[in-house]
Amino acid sequence: MANIGYYPGSFDPITYGHLDIIARALKLVDRLIIGIGSHHGKTGYLNSEVRNELIQSETNSLAKDLSCEIIIESFDDLVVEAAAAAGANLIIRGLRDGRDFEYERQMAMMNAAMKPEIETIFLAASPETSFIASSLVKQIAGMKGDISKFVPPRVAQAIAQKLANE
Ligand code: ADP
Repeated sequence: MANIGYYPGSFDPITYGHLDIIARALKLVDRLIIGIGSHHGKTGYLNSEVRNELIQSETNSLAKDLSCEIIIESFDDLVVEAAAAAGANLIIRGLRDGRDFEYERQMAMMNAAMKPEIETIFLAASPETSFIASSLVKQIAGMKGDISKFVPPRVAQAIAQKLANE
Protein backbone atom coordinates (compact mmCIF):
# COMPACT_ATOMS: atom_id res chain seq x y z
CA MET A 1 0.00 0.00 0.00
CA ALA A 2 1.30 3.44 -0.88
CA ASN A 3 1.64 5.81 2.05
CA ILE A 4 0.16 9.22 1.48
CA GLY A 5 0.99 11.83 4.10
CA TYR A 6 -0.87 15.04 4.91
CA TYR A 7 1.19 17.72 6.64
CA PRO A 8 -1.14 20.49 7.81
CA GLY A 9 -0.11 23.82 9.28
CA SER A 10 -0.25 27.56 8.93
CA PHE A 11 3.25 27.85 7.44
CA ASP A 12 2.96 31.59 8.02
CA PRO A 13 5.82 31.68 7.11
CA ILE A 14 7.47 28.34 6.35
CA THR A 15 10.67 27.99 8.42
CA TYR A 16 13.71 25.71 8.47
CA GLY A 17 11.81 23.79 11.19
CA HIS A 18 8.94 22.94 8.83
CA LEU A 19 11.41 22.11 6.04
CA ASP A 20 13.22 19.68 8.34
CA ILE A 21 9.94 17.86 9.06
CA ILE A 22 9.04 17.84 5.34
CA ALA A 23 12.44 16.41 4.31
CA ARG A 24 12.14 13.65 6.88
CA ALA A 25 8.48 12.92 6.12
CA LEU A 26 9.37 12.46 2.45
CA LYS A 27 11.43 9.41 3.43
CA LEU A 28 8.33 7.80 4.92
CA VAL A 29 5.67 8.48 2.31
CA ASP A 30 5.18 8.06 -1.43
CA ARG A 31 3.28 11.32 -1.73
CA LEU A 32 3.14 14.26 0.65
CA ILE A 33 0.36 16.80 0.62
CA ILE A 34 1.17 20.02 2.43
CA GLY A 35 -2.06 21.64 3.59
CA ILE A 36 -2.06 25.36 4.28
CA GLY A 37 -4.81 25.97 6.81
CA SER A 38 -6.79 29.16 6.43
CA HIS A 39 -9.31 29.60 9.14
CA HIS A 40 -12.58 31.36 8.40
CA GLY A 41 -11.13 33.29 5.48
CA LYS A 42 -8.43 34.98 7.60
CA THR A 43 -5.64 36.31 5.39
CA GLY A 44 -2.80 35.61 7.79
CA TYR A 45 0.54 37.42 7.82
CA LEU A 46 1.54 36.31 4.32
CA ASN A 47 -1.44 35.53 2.13
CA SER A 48 -2.05 31.94 1.20
CA GLU A 49 -0.85 32.32 -2.44
CA VAL A 50 2.50 33.70 -1.25
CA ARG A 51 2.79 30.93 1.34
CA ASN A 52 2.00 28.36 -1.35
CA GLU A 53 4.65 29.79 -3.73
CA LEU A 54 7.28 29.84 -1.00
CA ILE A 55 6.58 26.25 0.04
CA GLN A 56 6.67 25.25 -3.65
CA SER A 57 10.02 26.87 -4.33
CA GLU A 58 11.60 25.55 -1.11
CA THR A 59 10.43 21.95 -1.57
CA ASN A 60 10.94 21.51 -5.35
CA SER A 61 14.44 20.11 -5.11
CA LEU A 62 13.63 17.94 -2.06
CA ALA A 63 10.87 16.17 -3.99
CA LYS A 64 13.14 15.65 -7.00
CA ASP A 65 16.04 14.30 -4.91
CA LEU A 66 13.82 11.77 -3.14
CA SER A 67 11.63 11.11 -6.21
CA CYS A 68 8.55 11.72 -4.16
CA GLU A 69 5.51 13.73 -5.13
CA ILE A 70 4.65 16.88 -3.20
CA ILE A 71 1.29 18.58 -3.58
CA ILE A 72 0.55 21.90 -1.90
CA GLU A 73 -3.02 22.95 -1.24
CA SER A 74 -5.06 25.22 0.98
CA PHE A 75 -7.83 23.94 3.23
CA ASP A 76 -10.38 25.55 5.50
CA ASP A 77 -12.18 22.53 6.91
CA LEU A 78 -11.13 19.99 9.55
CA VAL A 79 -7.65 18.53 9.10
CA VAL A 80 -9.06 14.99 9.05
CA GLU A 81 -11.56 15.96 6.35
CA ALA A 82 -8.87 17.64 4.25
CA ALA A 83 -6.55 14.64 4.73
CA ALA A 84 -9.30 12.17 3.77
CA ALA A 85 -10.25 14.23 0.70
CA ALA A 86 -6.60 14.15 -0.38
CA GLY A 87 -6.56 10.36 -0.01
CA ALA A 88 -4.03 10.45 2.84
CA ASN A 89 -3.66 7.62 5.36
CA LEU A 90 -1.15 9.51 7.53
CA ILE A 91 -1.19 12.95 9.17
CA ILE A 92 2.32 14.25 9.86
CA ARG A 93 3.04 16.65 12.72
CA GLY A 94 6.26 18.00 14.19
CA LEU A 95 6.94 18.10 17.93
CA ARG A 96 9.23 20.74 19.34
CA ASP A 97 8.68 20.33 23.06
CA GLY A 98 6.33 19.14 25.77
CA ARG A 99 3.85 21.90 25.01
CA ASP A 100 3.55 20.79 21.38
CA PHE A 101 3.24 17.20 22.61
CA GLU A 102 0.33 17.85 24.97
CA TYR A 103 -1.60 19.80 22.36
CA GLU A 104 -0.80 17.44 19.50
CA ARG A 105 -1.56 14.30 21.53
CA GLN A 106 -5.05 15.52 22.29
CA MET A 107 -5.64 16.62 18.73
CA ALA A 108 -4.39 13.27 17.37
CA MET A 109 -6.80 11.43 19.65
CA MET A 110 -9.74 13.59 18.62
CA ASN A 111 -8.81 13.16 14.96
CA ALA A 112 -8.54 9.39 15.48
CA ALA A 113 -11.98 9.36 17.09
CA MET A 114 -13.38 11.09 14.00
CA LYS A 115 -11.42 9.10 11.40
CA PRO A 116 -9.70 6.01 12.87
CA GLU A 117 -8.43 4.99 9.43
CA ILE A 118 -6.03 7.96 9.39
CA GLU A 119 -2.97 7.57 11.64
CA THR A 120 -1.07 10.58 13.04
CA ILE A 121 2.71 10.33 12.97
CA PHE A 122 4.84 12.68 15.11
CA LEU A 123 8.36 13.56 14.12
CA ALA A 124 10.55 15.03 16.86
CA ALA A 125 12.08 18.32 15.75
CA SER A 126 15.79 18.17 14.96
CA PRO A 127 17.96 19.89 17.60
CA GLU A 128 19.23 22.45 15.06
CA THR A 129 15.72 23.74 14.29
CA SER A 130 13.59 22.79 17.29
CA PHE A 131 13.56 26.35 18.71
CA ILE A 132 12.18 27.97 15.55
CA ALA A 133 8.60 29.25 15.60
CA SER A 134 6.85 31.19 12.82
CA SER A 135 5.31 33.56 15.37
CA LEU A 136 8.73 34.61 16.70
CA VAL A 137 10.15 34.95 13.19
CA LYS A 138 7.38 37.50 12.46
CA GLN A 139 8.08 39.39 15.68
CA ILE A 140 11.83 39.51 15.07
CA ALA A 141 11.37 40.61 11.44
CA GLY A 142 8.93 43.32 12.56
CA MET A 143 11.60 44.70 14.87
CA LYS A 144 14.16 44.68 12.02
CA GLY A 145 16.02 41.65 13.39
CA ASP A 146 17.98 39.17 11.29
CA ILE A 147 15.84 36.11 10.50
CA SER A 148 18.31 34.44 8.13
CA LYS A 149 19.03 31.60 10.58
CA PHE A 150 15.34 30.68 10.80
CA VAL A 151 13.95 30.95 7.26
CA PRO A 152 15.34 30.50 3.72
CA PRO A 153 16.41 33.66 1.82
CA ARG A 154 13.28 33.71 -0.39
CA VAL A 155 11.05 33.69 2.71
CA ALA A 156 13.08 36.49 4.31
CA GLN A 157 12.70 38.47 1.07
CA ALA A 158 8.92 37.98 1.01
CA ILE A 159 8.70 39.22 4.61
CA ALA A 160 10.96 42.20 3.87
CA GLN A 161 8.72 43.08 0.91
CA LYS A 162 5.60 42.84 3.04
CA LEU A 163 7.13 45.08 5.71
CA ALA A 164 8.29 47.60 3.09
CA ASN A 165 4.71 47.83 1.74
CA GLU A 166 3.17 48.48 5.15
P1 ADP B 1 0.09 25.56 13.63
O1 ADP B 1 -0.43 24.35 12.92
O2 ADP B 1 -0.02 25.47 15.12
O3 ADP B 1 -0.30 26.87 13.05
P2 ADP B 1 2.59 25.64 12.25
O4 ADP B 1 1.89 25.92 11.04
O5 ADP B 1 3.69 26.56 12.62
O6 ADP B 1 1.67 25.50 13.49
O7 ADP B 1 3.20 24.19 12.23
C1 ADP B 1 2.67 23.09 11.56
C2 ADP B 1 3.35 21.86 12.11
O8 ADP B 1 4.77 22.02 12.07
C3 ADP B 1 3.03 21.54 13.57
O9 ADP B 1 3.02 20.14 13.73
C4 ADP B 1 4.19 22.13 14.33
O10 ADP B 1 4.42 21.49 15.56
C5 ADP B 1 5.32 21.85 13.35
N1 ADP B 1 6.45 22.76 13.54
C6 ADP B 1 6.46 24.11 13.56
N2 ADP B 1 7.70 24.58 13.76
C7 ADP B 1 8.50 23.50 13.89
C8 ADP B 1 9.91 23.32 14.14
N3 ADP B 1 10.72 24.35 14.34
N4 ADP B 1 10.38 22.05 14.19
C9 ADP B 1 9.54 21.00 14.02
N5 ADP B 1 8.22 21.09 13.80
C10 ADP B 1 7.72 22.32 13.73
